[in-house]
Amino acid sequence: MIKHDWTRDQIAAIYEQPLMDLLMQAQTLHREHHHANQVQVSQLMSIKTGACPEDCAYCPQAGIYDTGLDKEKLAAIEAVVEQARAAKASGATRFCMGAAWREPPAKAMPVLTAMVSEVKALGLETCMTLGMLDADQAGTLAEAGLDYYNHNLDTSPEHYGNIITTRTYGDRLETLAEVRNAGMKVCSGGILGLDESQNDRIGLLQSLANLPEHPDSVPINQLVKVPGTPLEDAEDLDPIDFVRTVATARIIMPRSVVRLSAGREIMSDEMQALCFMAGANSLFYGETLLTTPNPETDQDQALFKRMGIQTTQQGDPVKTYTPQAKSAWEQKVDSLAKDAMSL
Ligand code: SF4
Repeated sequence: MIKHDWTRDQIAAIYEQPLMDLLMQAQTLHREHHHANQVQVSQLMSIKTGACPEDCAYCPQAGIYDTGLDKEKLAAIEAVVEQARAAKASGATRFCMGAAWREPPAKAMPVLTAMVSEVKALGLETCMTLGMLDADQAGTLAEAGLDYYNHNLDTSPEHYGNIITTRTYGDRLETLAEVRNAGMKVCSGGILGLDESQNDRIGLLQSLANLPEHPDSVPINQLVKVPGTPLEDAEDLDPIDFVRTVATARIIMPRSVVRLSAGREIMSDEMQALCFMAGANSLFYGETLLTTPNPETDQDQALFKRMGIQTTQQGDPVKTYTPQAKSAWEQKVDSLAKDAMSL
């Protein structure tokens, strides 16, 4: 039974456990609902860069901050298709297209829908992140065949006003509702390292887990501090807090795919491995994530090989929950324990 009425205290009780207990619970639940050693890979392309009218305090693309970013107009369809083809060749199954807008302008909609259909024709899943959507825009993108729409809640409702003043938390929830109503899959998560408190991290998870349906995909980002943005000197995030947030997301949204997103460039391989242990099962490939650096694809593939992780292939069956799945895992642990005792 999927739960949608989490209290802060309930989530805090999960988050604050001894780390080994938290990881064990997250990994056990992960195995019930997901293939244990599989990771889904997406690739993200910035299709319109910079000059955004919003004021997100972490973002180098906000027009009001002087970050030295090269602005780019909406990309040509052919350029997008070319990158999507390369993404598929490097093992991505989903291609995400991001544009720095408050909301997509009406004149861009025909170009965006053409991008969706051409990328889908390559056999890739499609995702877009274009800012706020109204019902008509969500319907148009859904009709074009867009599979996922990303719109993050970013942080807790209380901390949100310290990070963004040009749109409200309620605006974000409305866009998520339009995406869901249009029949697209919801991708929504947040960013850690925004000088938030532990209660804010828990509040973000509560907002996500108490949506009418859990997001299909929950990206957990770590702030990449960009000079020129208000958060360039934000306090460093404790990596263990990042891992705790991933594990708690896995436990309270057991069927969602939890994605490691921005900030992987500054994570060690060991920290990423701990995140996979905690239930992360998706990441972005590619040298940049919109405008911030990301590990090289080869480096990711080498880590997967060292960890024995397979990447999800298009058409792989989704694991459906059965109570037996847990007992198979437990039986394996029991039998290993017995073997160890007989030595
Ligand atoms: S995060 Fe998105 S909406 Fe906010 S400033 Fe950056 S591009 Fe604009």
